[in-house]
Amino acid sequence: MPDTPNPVQIDRKPVEAALASASPVIRAILDRAIEGRTISRQEGEILFSASATDLDALVSTADEIRRRRIGDRVTFVTVRNINFTNVCYMACQFCNFGVRKEAKSAELLSLDEVANRAEEAWQRGGTEVCIQGGLHPDIPGDHYFRLLDAVKTRVPQMHVHAFSPFEIWYGVKKSRKPLRDYLTALKSAGLGSMPGTAAEILDTEIRLQLTRNKLSADEWERIIRAAHEAGIRTTATIMYGHIDGPAHWAAHIDRIRSIQIDTGGFTEFVPLGFVHEQTRLFRDHPQARPGPTITENIRMHAVARLMLAGFIDNIQVSWVKLGPEAARFMLDCGVNDLGGTLMNESISRAAGSSHGQEITPAEMVRIIRSAGRIPIQRNTLYGMVADYSESDPDEIAPLVSRKQGADPLAFLKRPAPHPVAAE
Ligand code: SF4
Repeated sequence: MPDTPNPVQIDRKPVEAALASASPVIRAILDRAIEGRTISRQEGEILFSASATDLDALVSTADEIRRRRIGDRVTFVTVRNINFTNVCYMACQFCNFGVRKEAKSAELLSLDEVANRAEEAWQRGGTEVCIQGGLHPDIPGDHYFRLLDAVKTRVPQMHVHAFSPFEIWYGVKKSRKPLRDYLTALKSAGLGSMPGTAAEILDTEIRLQLTRNKLSADEWERIIRAAHEAGIRTTATIMYGHIDGPAHWAAHIDRIRSIQIDTGGFTEFVPLGFVHEQTRLFRDHPQARPGPTITENIRMHAVARLMLAGFIDNIQVSWVKLGPEAARFMLDCGVNDLGGTLMNESISRAAGSSHGQEITPAEMVRIIRSAGRIPIQRNTLYGMVADYSESDPDEIAPLVSRKQGADPLAFLKRPAPHPVAAE
């Protein structure tokens, strides 16, 4: 394993007191991280199992490494999610979004409607549309091209971040084209980048219990590597807190890091906590847990920061999975990106998430400032769009009206208990 690329000087002083109270094994690993050494898979697994008394040292080290590598800026992107169909027959156990096409709630948006939504997003200041959907049995092999064409014809400047590796697999299968040619053609048609979703946990045994029909971990990696080689950058994700544990998490991040060493194609790492409420996995699997605990969320973001330092320096928190209050807390645990404003959110909501569909740019800025950090609006590939250190974004109403009294920033008005204490 190579040492951390582009090492930066880490000052021990801010973390000295926390390190002093940590157990010798944890302290030794954190010392190595501070020295700029790469944290191995085995060391990552030990950090994931860190006790409550070691948590302060883990978090302080992750936060200091974040500060030295990225600074105090916290980024967000103004994006609209467009889930163009919820029809899907893959029956993933953790998903409550996919329905059969006869279902009352079945939906397949017309190309015109997709273009309308992209145009509306652009008018509201959106720089990206994130387009994903179920694997609808009736869509033709060129449907993903038609979606790109619809958006790019209507709003040429819009960045299209679209199609999970599973959708790419489906498009390749339907169109019978070689993977590399298919990806190159998508890029030429306007695909700007891809979400690294459908990774779930890159572990064969766990994956088979989550979904029998989904592409394998090896297939996911093959498609991601091919995308990077075709010049299409992607995010990297993990879905955790179900039937998995520290060994799987450390191995997953290690595998993501190995891909990054070879391709450099990942823009960010996004931990996605399992939302359990409406899922078959939670109902039927005897070992399924109701999502990660707050301590596991803290460990996930902090260990990801340490294991990926110098390899993937953007660690994102998902406010839609964790809620805005816990998301803000993660900014102190190694995180430097708050993700997207979303405008519409269907997938987590279908699984039972109640954290709303949109946080407007002005609200993002308030959350970031409340953590004592500098708000920056970015584009999908982390170029700066606006620096809000001394100004505010325009106030806009959420695209989808909130329930009366619902305020995602209500937590800013009251003193919050420490999330670990509240657990
Ligand atoms: S996770 Fe994706 S592929 Fe699996 S059932 Fe849901 S929509 Fe279909």
